[in-house]
Amino acid sequence: MAELEGLHFGKSDFVLLDEVTMEQFLENLKLRFEEGRIYTFIGEVVVSVNPYRQMDIYGNDVIEAYRGRELYENPPHLYAVADAAYKAMKRRAKDTCIVISGESGAGKTEASKYIMQYIAAITNPSQRQEVESVKSVLLKSNCVLEAFGNAKTNRNDNSSRFGKYMDINFNFNGDPTGGHINNYLLEKSRVVQQQEGERNFHSFYQLLRGGSEDLLKSLHLNKDPTDYTYTSQGAVAMTASTDDRSHHRAVMSALKVIGFSQEEINSIYKILATILHLGNLKFENEAENVQLVGGDLVMHISELTGTEVESMRKALLYRTVATGGGEVIEKGHSEQEASYGREALAKALYERLFGWIVGRINSVIEVKNYNPALHGKNTVIGVLDIYGFEIFDNNSFEQFCINYCNEKLQQLFIELILRQEQDEYQREGITWQHIEYFNNQIIVDLVEQPHKGIISILDDACLTVGKVTDSACLDSMNDKLGHHPHFTSRKLTPTDKTMEFNRHFRIRHYAGDVMYSVEGFLDKNKDPLFQDFKRLMFNSSDPILKEMWPDGKLSITEVTKRPLTAATLFKNSIIALVDKLACKEPYYVRCVKPNEVKSPMLFDDARCQHQVAYLGLLENVHVRRAGFAYRQPYDRFLQRYKMTCEYTWPNHLMGSDREAVEAIVLQHNFEGDVAYGHTKLFVRTPRTLFTLEQERTAL
Ligand code: ATP
Ligand code: MG
Repeated sequence: MAELEGLHFGKSDFVLLDEVTMEQFLENLKLRFEEGRIYTFIGEVVVSVNPYRQMDIYGNDVIEAYRGRELYENPPHLYAVADAAYKAMKRRAKDTCIVISGESGAGKTEASKYIMQYIAAITNPSQRQEVESVKSVLLKSNCVLEAFGNAKTNRNDNSSRFGKYMDINFNFNGDPTGGHINNYLLEKSRVVQQQEGERNFHSFYQLLRGGSEDLLKSLHLNKDPTDYTYTSQGAVAMTASTDDRSHHRAVMSALKVIGFSQEEINSIYKILATILHLGNLKFENEAENVQLVGGDLVMHISELTGTEVESMRKALLYRTVATGGGEVIEKGHSEQEASYGREALAKALYERLFGWIVGRINSVIEVKNYNPALHGKNTVIGVLDIYGFEIFDNNSFEQFCINYCNEKLQQLFIELILRQEQDEYQREGITWQHIEYFNNQIIVDLVEQPHKGIISILDDACLTVGKVTDSACLDSMNDKLGHHPHFTSRKLTPTDKTMEFNRHFRIRHYAGDVMYSVEGFLDKNKDPLFQDFKRLMFNSSDPILKEMWPDGKLSITEVTKRPLTAATLFKNSIIALVDKLACKEPYYVRCVKPNEVKSPMLFDDARCQHQVAYLGLLENVHVRRAGFAYRQPYDRFLQRYKMTCEYTWPNHLMGSDREAVEAIVLQHNFEGDVAYGHTKLFVRTPRTLFTLEQERTAL
């Protein structure tokens, strides 16, 4: 296929725009979307618009068309990027990564799956059994992770509520030998609370609607999600129960293919059931003391968790505290504390279950017995599918973390794209002029700097003994960050009694201003869970559950160190992620959501414009054009355009490929627009290629 698919479909690469303006960019994006061309390049970056309909562009014939080809030989596609990343990895033994970004519902997870399927399809031509089984575990892991980590939200029926980074390892043949998954910040608050129109994680509904009668009976569950508080606050009926049923079957089979034992699967379901029962517990105040209403539920819970009924009852109603003198006393909960404790337990059970599942998958796909001396360098392709920038009506701690993560990734994007360009020019011996960007390091520092940054201020507040309110923490931020150009806060007009929490701060992110409500920040950051629960779970007779609670080993008097806060843990994991990505050659997929109503027809200009702006796509085009918009190895260039020059067509009269390319350039008077690298021709403006392409197709 030609580089230009024909004007009818717009420009297949945004660097070919006549002028790089938002107007032209959007016009091209829209035209292509309407013509069913959902992918467009910016150089090596693929911009994707969610089609919201099944497209016939992922079949084996298409895979074959992209396999081993250069990026510009085919129309823009995810497969082109996947192949480029794979080729770089295989030919140059480079570790590469594919970073997929975009907001909720933009198509990141679908893109990551197509990319993995492509890689699976083009590898292991000899069908070696062990490689096939690695591939199938890698692919099946998606199904399991989606069941436990995705949920229906108002933005996306299958929204990933966690960030995912997956490394795929390859041997010297370029065949997958294993992998590793890192997961980031699961949105565990969803376990106990869902907004109107949203659901809990899919796994609960799949179990209730898809589990056999016997299974449900053994878990003391009914089929109906509306019987459970944790599965009925938002929307149950809005999703077809048949989907939940068929997904349940798929997940069961995926778990088995991956290698989960029946005991492990049973434990998973027991934990899900425990959480559902916990949600239905009711506490009641009775003469100062809080009591549990209904005894059956606690019995079910203790049976399912392999704990003593009395210990479970106690842990739900009391907590043990060590006094200064080393004495241990029992303190009864207030109704509010009991309810809070139960929710913290439910969330922690789920979070640990999720982490354990990821760890279990990793133990299966981890590369074992790889000997580089024997097998050559073990190379990696990383695939990152992580939450995009979020601005909601009410932004809380979760959005704060997610947006910080996006600042870090944006910085990496800028740095790597620049670095990659500069490296290539240097390698090829081409002089190049440095381009200035907005450097968002200042915003990253605002959040993460030790002692001065927002996370550090939050952590200080969490460490302070006694009751520090969110509001007092905000005051402290104001004191320390009041003059920061990217930070402001304002007290909203005190209108009602929630005034104490009616306070916000604003961060001027690279992608736009976001107002965060501080309500709940400290609690979410501290993320406390009564030690009694940890000990109880650690002492469970179910070895799998026990394994998830190693920190319950300590007795009350031994617990001295405070666990790291949620924000600090997240920060550390994102810094580690960025380090991992930074040493790889990056490829980017930038996903755009065309509208809010999941329509395959509608291109909402304002929404798209906003995304194009914050994804930095125009800047991306500028960078690409300021340097050399195109580069091609001499042999490829010659192959493609030889017919436009009398010295190269029909007979190749020149010596080397480079000399032949020089002849083509000279004949067209393009010499002012190109530079000759050691192995590639660099073309500054798209116009040149455009002309060549036209001549070529006219012949
Ligand atoms: P989130 O951040 O909420 O996880 P996401 O960016 O991962 O969102 P996806 O789940 O990949 O979004 O896509 C949302 C939905 O859009 C999919 O369930 C599917 O219906 C549709 N969709 C996305 N990409 C494609 C595609 N290439 N072809 C057809 N439909 C698609
Ligand atoms: Mg997703």
